[in-house]
Amino acid sequence: MGYSKRKTKKIKEIALERIEILMNLAEEAYRKGQLERMRRYIELSRRIAMKARVPFPKKWKRRICKKCLTVLIYGVNCTVRTVSDKSCPHVAIKCLNCGNVIKIPMVREKKLKRRLKRMASTK
Ligand SMILES: [Zn+2]
Repeated sequence: MGYSKRKTKKIKEIALERIEILMNLAEEAYRKGQLERMRRYIELSRRIAMKARVPFPKKWKRRICKKCLTVLIYGVNCTVRTVSDKSCPHVAIKCLNCGNVIKIPMVREKKLKRRLKRMASTK
């Protein structure tokens, strides 16, 4: 027997709330130098997302180094730069802990901007 739609929605909401809380705790733990604790919080929130089948919040996705499970704090343990590669412009976030680079394509955002512009001009 599956869950009703409404119940599933509620479960997802709760999962996202928990992830938000856990990730804030993870950031706090990092700032206090409690790295083991931070990793546990990250693992836990990823597990919650998987179980509830919710996509990991974008806001946090960009702030986790998957390689070393560290919360990335801009200006503290990672560097951010935009790479204007013609075929694939992206934002490169580099984890200063392990050197891993997270690439975030900018294509979608560009498309969105274009769409917004079009909407503004047809008014
Ligand atoms: Zn890393």
